[in-house]
Amino acid sequence: MEELSLLFLLLPVAALSGWWTGRRAALRSGGRRMTRLSSSYFRGLNYLLNEQPDKAIEVFLQIADIDRDTVETHFALGNLFRRRGEVERAIRIHQNLIERSSLSDEHRTLALLELGEDYMRAGLLDRAEILFSDLVKEGTLAPKALRHLISIYQQERDWENAIAHAGKLERATGEPMGRLIAQFECEIAEQQIAVGNWATARVHLRNAFGHEANSIRAGLIEARLAMANGDDVAAMRSYERVARHEPDIFIEVMRPLLDLYERLGERDRAHDFLREMIDRYAGVAPLLAKARMIQQELGAKAAGEFLLSELLERPSIKGQSALISLCMSEDASVSPEQAQRLLTGLGQINQRLVSSSPTYRCNRCGFAARAHHWQCPSCKSWASIKPIHNAAGE
Ligand SMILES: [Zn+2]
Repeated sequence: MEELSLLFLLLPVAALSGWWTGRRAALRSGGRRMTRLSSSYFRGLNYLLNEQPDKAIEVFLQIADIDRDTVETHFALGNLFRRRGEVERAIRIHQNLIERSSLSDEHRTLALLELGEDYMRAGLLDRAEILFSDLVKEGTLAPKALRHLISIYQQERDWENAIAHAGKLERATGEPMGRLIAQFECEIAEQQIAVGNWATARVHLRNAFGHEANSIRAGLIEARLAMANGDDVAAMRSYERVARHEPDIFIEVMRPLLDLYERLGERDRAHDFLREMIDRYAGVAPLLAKARMIQQELGAKAAGEFLLSELLERPSIKGQSALISLCMSEDASVSPEQAQRLLTGLGQINQRLVSSSPTYRCNRCGFAARAHHWQCPSCKSWASIKPIHNAAGE
């Protein structure tokens, strides 16, 4: 009886100690899990540091089996491999992620996007295209997938699809795509011109202007088409319009435009337009072109006078050479007074060229200086400023 009561007395203790051992066990197993997790991490990290990426991958894939929260580790690792150009490893990691049934929809989409980027990097454009197209259809992360698709279609020179997807991206994000689409339309127009389909080329030019009203490239193609069509006046106007809109393009259109003025007998118009470009184009080309025209019309002397006065305003070495050859040409017949004036002018132009160019440069940061400094005013390094040895330097 005593033993029995003692036994009864012991029961709660046993229960308690059972609970206690259970809890201890749970704690211990949790602890062991954590230890296993971190030791795996360190093992994986160690493999990575020792340039054994395949062993590292195995270890990290096992971690994901243990703890699904470590999905971020997968993304970081996949990214790392792709950035290092180890695309096959990146693909393995991302494919492994996608195959996991436990993955959230959000993470799966992200993994698909990453896998698509891996395929692109590996040059597997058709696989990437299918993947991104599916993502666009699902509507998740569509803008990112659209951007990749546009880039794929550009690589494949599939301009029709590039246009369609740029339009979709614009509708999805509100980001203006007009200038890009205009370039794609111009690509198609040029392809069509190359195979003689002028009518189709014109349709795409109109589309290009629809997307970018002042498209320089479309303007240039338009001028070429007009010339091929025998419409010199339209070609001249197109060239003028693009150069007015974008003076930097002048150097590309100058030759055909001057030929057109010549053919159409539009000398006054040529003079006016060159004057306009002298004022708006930063280079010396329109000035030299106008000097050549003056030489044709009034002779080398008049052209020399014109060039000299203009070059005093905007010194240029190319301009100086042109001026010297004008004065040496046979029809110049320069008088001693004129020669004196010319030499004075050339001297002044030279002076300006020299004084406007820096004479010292820092060989550490490239800072240009007019005087010697022991310490570079820009990068603060010492004794790095050296004289420049070029045409205008010391
Ligand atoms: Zn410096």
